[in-house]
Amino acid sequence: MCHERMISLCNFIDQKIDDGTFVPLVTAVNHFMRQTGKFLVLFVYFISAFLAFTSFFIIIPYEQLYKPIWFLIILGVFGLYFLFNIQYHYYKARTIPPVANPGEEGDVFCEKCNYWKSDRAHHCSVCEKCVLGMDHHCIWINQCVGSHNHRHFFLFVANLTLAAGTIIIAGYPSFYDHLFSDTSQTTYCTTILNNAPLQDIICDYDGFAKTSVVFCYLLSFILLIMVGGLTLWNVYLISIGCTYIDYLKLTGSKKKLSARRRLNKGLKSNWKNFLGLRRNRTFFKCVIMPTALPPVRYESLDNRPDVFDVV
Ligand SMILES: [Zn+2]
Ligand SMILES: [Zn+2]
Repeated sequence: MCHERMISLCNFIDQKIDDGTFVPLVTAVNHFMRQTGKFLVLFVYFISAFLAFTSFFIIIPYEQLYKPIWFLIILGVFGLYFLFNIQYHYYKARTIPPVANPGEEGDVFCEKCNYWKSDRAHHCSVCEKCVLGMDHHCIWINQCVGSHNHRHFFLFVANLTLAAGTIIIAGYPSFYDHLFSDTSQTTYCTTILNNAPLQDIICDYDGFAKTSVVFCYLLSFILLIMVGGLTLWNVYLISIGCTYIDYLKLTGSKKKLSARRRLNKGLKSNWKNFLGLRRNRTFFKCVIMPTALPPVRYESLDNRPDVFDVV
């Protein structure tokens, strides 16, 4: 009985989808996501500016009470490196337009874009485009993650995770002293610090340093859990050679799973392809240094020659 009800409910929903009942709702949701995405991009810049300011002007100068200067210099250099990489890859991930290479006649026809699309492309209703190698639509970059920007997106989240982890490990004494500032021997504003150029200005505002350090630390913790989780999930998908959409599409039947296995060229090859390490490109040049590279290679699901290879 319950099963029959479920079937009739599904049929009812299918019928409503077919006759376009949900179109205004879906259009409104997509519009809302596009507009929200614009604010979230500004929010990301605001958050990264706050983390950088607190780390460089409050936490690192304060840590001289606990750590040698040479260590703080190395910390500062790594901090600048993470900051630059995060900004560079974030900018690239959100500004490179999606690629939607046309497929061949007989492939899936996208009625919204009005052309044949390759089987590694997926139509995004928020971006209103077919996106090659689509992984997911990300509201934090306000566009899709796909072949055009997946490498930048991954390096953005990986660098952000490393930066958050560094703040949590290196900034613990600062966090502890400012969280328990009532009983602490010292805080940023009760100690005369060398090489703290903004100490006078920052300490003019009551409680600013304390709130900033505690908030910066807790925010880093949240980022480590959430962005770190996303990074690990991406590491897994890249290691098996597929995107999140591929993963969803190719789950279930034996046929689908064997199609997913065909995409997997082995751990090393998958990573080399994803990071663009071909034609004498080195890990240092393409991953350690911020570099813009053309999209990675995507193969057709049915083992035809490459459908996309611009390198
Ligand atoms: Zn389309
Ligand atoms: Zn999209």
